[in-house]
Amino acid sequence: MQSPVKLVLATHNAHKVVELRRILGDQLDGIELVGYDGPEPDEDGTTFAENALIKARAAAAHTGLPAIADDSGICVPELDGAPGIHSARYAGTRDDTDNYRLLLKNLGDAQNRAAEFTCAAAFVMGEVEHAEVGVWHGKVLHEPAGSGGFGYDPIFQPAGYDVASAQLTPAEKDAISHRSRAFAALMPVVRSYLV
Ligand code: IMP
Repeated sequence: MQSPVKLVLATHNAHKVVELRRILGDQLDGIELVGYDGPEPDEDGTTFAENALIKARAAAAHTGLPAIADDSGICVPELDGAPGIHSARYAGTRDDTDNYRLLLKNLGDAQNRAAEFTCAAAFVMGEVEHAEVGVWHGKVLHEPAGSGGFGYDPIFQPAGYDVASAQLTPAEKDAISHRSRAFAALMPVVRSYLV
C-alpha cells in the first residue's frame, strides 16, 4: 500500500485543529494531516485570504511540505466590519470571553445586529497558491449562551436558528459553518494536487 502524502496544517489553535480534522473527514483519504509547531509569521495581510496564504506559505517554507491554513473572524457591519481580521486579538488579551464581551459592549443596544463569520482556507505547495472563502450569516445576541464551540460562538445566532452557535452540536455547526464552506471549496483543489 502507498504511504499517505503529508499535508501540514498551519495552525497553533487547538480548537481549529479539532474542528478541521472533523470537517475534513473523508477528504483526508490518502493524506496524512500533520501538525505545525514552527515559527508563526506576522499576519500583516489586509484580508482573510491574504492572512491564510501568509500562514500556509510560512508552514510550507519551514517544513518543505504542502500546507493548508485558515484565517477567520467575525464581521459586524454596524461596527464598520470590526473586529474582522482582528477578531482573535480584539480585546488585546487573546481571550475569547474578553473578545466577545468587548463586541457586546461596542454594539450596545444597536438595532442592526447583523454579523457574519468569514473563513479563508489556503493551500500552498511550492509555487502553487490557492485560497477559498466561506461566509456564515447571522446576528449578534444580547447575552452569551451555550458552552460549545469557541471564540464568538456564544454570542452568534446563525440565520435560521433560534440558538447561539455555541448551543449547536459539533455536527450541526460543521454542516453550515464558514470554515466548512471554505474547506469544502478548497479540498478538491488540494486533492487534485496531492492524490
Ligand atoms: P485566527 O486564528 O487568526 O483565524 O483567528 C480567528 C478568531 O476569530 C478566533 O480566535 C475567534 O475569536 C474568531 N472565530 C473564527 N472562527 C470562529 C468560529 O467558528 N466560532 C467562533 N469564533 C470564531
